Order: sequence, then C-alpha cells, then structure tokens
Amino acid sequence: MHIDYDGEIPVEISARHVHLSQADQDALFGDGYEMKVMKSLSQTGQYAAEEKVTVVGPKGELECRVLGPCRKQTQVELAVSDGVRLGIMPTVRLSGDLAGSAGCSLVGPKGRVDLKEGVINDVRHLHISDKEAEEWKVKDGDVISARVDGETPVTFHAIRVRIHPSFRLNIHLDTDEGNAAALPKGGGIAKLLRERDDA
Ligand SMILES: [Zn+2]
Repeated sequence: MHIDYDGEIPVEISARHVHLSQADQDALFGDGYEMKVMKSLSQTGQYAAEEKVTVVGPKGELECRVLGPCRKQTQVELAVSDGVRLGIMPTVRLSGDLAGSAGCSLVGPKGRVDLKEGVINDVRHLHISDKEAEEWKVKDGDVISARVDGETPVTFHAIRVRIHPSFRLNIHLDTDEGNAAALPKGGGIAKLLRERDDA
C-alpha cells in the first residue's frame, strides 16, 4: 500500500462560539435586539457578531462569541480544552445533532438561560461544493484523512465530508487541533491523504 498526499485544501480554525435560538437571544440580550455584524464568515450567510456571551460550567466560565443568524436551537461549540476549563465535556457531534449532548448556562447583558443540551465539540469536517466533490471524488458523509502542514504537521483522521452547493472548499478545525499543528490563528493548508494499492 502506498500513501499519496493530494491537492491543497485551505484550513480554517474555529474558536469557541455559540449559535443562539431567537428565544435565547431575546432572553440574553432583550427582545428585538439586533446583533452587530463584526465579519462575514467563509460559509455563505453566516457572520460573527461583536457580541459575546458568558458560558458557565461547574468549574469556571468563558467568554464566547455569538455567530448569527439565529438557529432553531442554541448550540455551543467548544474545543476540548475549553471544556476542561469549564468542567463540561463537550459531546463530539456534527453541527445540529444536539439530542443528549452536554448542557451549560449562558449569561448575557439582559439575562441567563440554562441549557439542558447543546454543548458540542463540532466534529472536524470538510466543506465542499457538489462540483468540487466530484473532482475530489468524495461523497457526503465520507470520512477522510488529511495532513495539516503547520510548523508541526499533524495528520487528522475522521474528518467528515459535508457537501452543499454553497460551500467553499475548507477544512474546519477547532483551536486545540490547530494548536497541535502549530497553525497560526488564520489557518493554513492541508493535503488529502489517499491510500492506493501498489500495482
Ligand atoms: Zn464548518
């Protein structure tokens, strides 16, 4: 068997953040509050807000940036080291799959909400458009491996492929994963690992 490293995929690091439901946003910031957009994110339609909330766990608390627009259910995305500081072990999940995940409390300028669930460690993933997925020969839900070429390169396995026409080619890692490869905050480049049998 032979291993090839194929292509170049931009890597982005997602720091801890929270997506709020409209009801939780109203409770934390007040009814009808409008978030101030700090910057648009690479995946269409999403933005980082200037606002932050405080995530409270049994061992501590952390400031967490709000990402908009609102979602159906509040979702808190943490790196494992964030969870260690809070005393909450985030459940490794795909974004949006929250049933039975860990809980926490959130505090904003106008109030507090206690979440029974919604705290996850977003499984590392590749965003890719349908067209590019054909070129790269990957399917939605595939699990791939890629070598991240930071100062201390790391090969990550169990990267989930997520396909949508609006997606831009990108691997999303959390801060722990980026730090392991000594990547700068702005991210870097990964190469897809492909195994082939020697003829
Ligand atoms: Zn992502």
